[in-house]
Amino acid sequence: MSPPSLLRSEPGTPGRDRAGRVAPLSQYVLKLTSRCDLACDHCYVYQHPDQSWRRQPHVMAPSTVSATARRIAEHAAAHRLGAVRVVLHGGEPLLAGADRLDATAAELRRRIEPVARLDLRMQSNGVLLTPAIADVLVAHDVKVGISLDGDLAANDRHRRHANGASSHAAVRRALALLRRPAYRPSYAGILCTVDLANDPVRVYEAVLAEQPPHVDFLLPHANWDRPPERGDGTATPYADWLLAVHRRWLADGRPVPIRLLESLLATAAGGASRTEAVGLGPADLVVVETDGTFEQVDSLKSAFDGAAATGLDVFRHRVDDAAAHPMIAVRQIGLAGLCATCRACPVVHRCGGGLFAHRYRSGNGFDNPSVYCADLRELIDAVSVPAAEPPDPPTDALGPAVLDDLGTGYGSDDSVRQMVAVHQAMVRALLVALSPEAAADPVAAPGWELLAALDVTAPDAVRAVLAHPFVRRWAQSCRDATEVDLAYLGCVAAAAAVHAGVEAELVVPVRDGLVNLPTFGAVALDTVDGDASISVTADGFAVRAGRQRVAVRPGDAADPPGWRPVRRLPLGGHHLLLEDTDPYRDCYGLPVAPRLDRVTAERWTRRLERAVHRVGAESAGYAPGLRALLRAVVPLRPDPTGRQRSAAAGAAFGAVAVTPTPDDAALAVLLVHEVQHLKLDAVLDVADLFDRTDPRTLTVPWRDDPRPVEGALHGVYAHLAVADVWRTRPGPAAAAHHRRYRDWTVEALEALLGLGALTPTGDRFVRRMRETVDGWS
Ligand code: SF4
Ligand code: SF4
Repeated sequence: MSPPSLLRSEPGTPGRDRAGRVAPLSQYVLKLTSRCDLACDHCYVYQHPDQSWRRQPHVMAPSTVSATARRIAEHAAAHRLGAVRVVLHGGEPLLAGADRLDATAAELRRRIEPVARLDLRMQSNGVLLTPAIADVLVAHDVKVGISLDGDLAANDRHRRHANGASSHAAVRRALALLRRPAYRPSYAGILCTVDLANDPVRVYEAVLAEQPPHVDFLLPHANWDRPPERGDGTATPYADWLLAVHRRWLADGRPVPIRLLESLLATAAGGASRTEAVGLGPADLVVVETDGTFEQVDSLKSAFDGAAATGLDVFRHRVDDAAAHPMIAVRQIGLAGLCATCRACPVVHRCGGGLFAHRYRSGNGFDNPSVYCADLRELIDAVSVPAAEPPDPPTDALGPAVLDDLGTGYGSDDSVRQMVAVHQAMVRALLVALSPEAAADPVAAPGWELLAALDVTAPDAVRAVLAHPFVRRWAQSCRDATEVDLAYLGCVAAAAAVHAGVEAELVVPVRDGLVNLPTFGAVALDTVDGDASISVTADGFAVRAGRQRVAVRPGDAADPPGWRPVRRLPLGGHHLLLEDTDPYRDCYGLPVAPRLDRVTAERWTRRLERAVHRVGAESAGYAPGLRALLRAVVPLRPDPTGRQRSAAAGAAFGAVAVTPTPDDAALAVLLVHEVQHLKLDAVLDVADLFDRTDPRTLTVPWRDDPRPVEGALHGVYAHLAVADVWRTRPGPAAAAHHRRYRDWTVEALEALLGLGALTPTGDRFVRRMRETVDGWS
């Protein structure tokens, strides 16, 4: 039977852009075996109309594996793909045995990795998993998804041996094996097919009891010719089933990522789906059968005999030829590949017409909505962004009351928290500005999608990373095109995934031999420059480049070789980081110190602890702001003249840089001084305090050269605080320091008020400083 015609008249040719270039494929399903040790009665490979498996060799020959790997590498090189995913599949891939798996994984890595990062996976029923095979999987970094439909009764409903015997105990043994620490890195998660006869909450509980890093629920394969079971006749039984899981999942605090539900939440927030089952993202996937023939997505076998065939194979055809096949290409063109009903549907951007195979009807092929249309609509309407999320504080500006409070020089907890919220909004705005380029960049796009999805499902994790001072500096340098490093988005997203404990796989850049994860630290690699892969799990993450792999569990007492964790000390509900690894910290015009050894770092953290404590004890008015705002201290190299140096940078809100000092009291003053600069930078980000077109300068007492208004404002705001710190300290020397800084402040305040360059808001802000000084006397 020839493929049904489903292509409408669209500009260009599906599968090719207007210039005639083929849209690349980055995901490959390798049918390592074509037979299975189970005989599940819902299996789309063996129990549905397509019976092509009978014509296939039982196991893929080594020469076919090599030819496939060459084709994938050739395609990745031609399209400059940063990463490709290969899923070892069947039938049951474990039937290939440990030696064949070992050779296959090694061959794929050998051929593909010099060209693109290889994300190697396997989908299995788990029955034949042994420690020997698990050793092979871990050695080759193969992530395994296991199929399990729930507890014994639920799983036995379909997933049985040919003689009717249960597979449940064997599958659970496999899952127990994958939970062992040695094999946990290869545990990808559980795939569960929905059956209305099973209780959804019991299925959810049985699946979660296996502690999977990831779960996905699949609708059973069906189409308009073979409609799904409808149970008791309710209108949307599959939506009702999944919504029962959704309610329990939310009540449990989303303990594990569920791909379908997370995708629906992500698309509700305008993000991308992470499954082909919903959403309009391109399905850039092709199957390679055991004999080397290219086929379309496997689930099409549920439509009609020969539905997945392309007539192409890895020996005679390139992946480009497969990508240009109309039935593969049509799944890459989003909205244009859907039927008229779906194109007019108000939720089409979230639904995407459901899974391609579920649209089939003999007569008009795939030019239909999904056979699950009503369920999908119900599910999409019900799964939206949770309404119970507490609203963020206003982030578009700092109100007059906050400016009045900050104008005193101090700044309450609340005012500084609003300032931090404004900063978060600015970082988000920078990221959104980068998003069109990020989404079009093959390396950065997965990071962008992950970050958008986490922003819905794990917003605290995203907030924690975006609050890191040098994430803003990175985003700003990309926007200003001073240092465009979109690939670093992978590091930002990976750090958010680690905070969330959410499984993720990304490509990340190696710069100067380091992969940096903002807020966590850096992994040192033998590779100096290029790409690495990062796999995030619930417990930690592993970075891999070539044959080198560094696995990290943040918080473990012992650090693995290569791991350079950022040192931290508790401060006001978060941690103050001693930042000596971040590649974007070098922004102060002063030389930053290289990575500190353990003893030096401990000395720094003890001094910082004492200095922060001292600010709390002697400068109560500045302590709340410092606690709420300060996120990182960057050690600078000692000044050659012995002078104590410090700096702050507006693009790195929340960080200050200082040279080493043995004097806690001096360090306390420097911290207060630099935090004042950060506070004023944040105010100037959102409030016009002076006329920026006014070229006039003014003389200030602490500098010989005339200063622009902004420079004078910064100086006076910092000296006001320094004068206040010295005011509280005992002794004649402290009193002298106080008088000096107070007099400088007063003189500069008068000069600013007299110049006539301040806006009404600026005038009010400066007069609030003056009131503080007047209050001292
Ligand atoms: S384990 Fe998978 S391939 Fe094997 S019969 Fe069951 S569904 Fe089909
Ligand atoms: S809800 Fe139905 S009509 Fe709307 S996009 Fe999905 S399948 Fe198409």
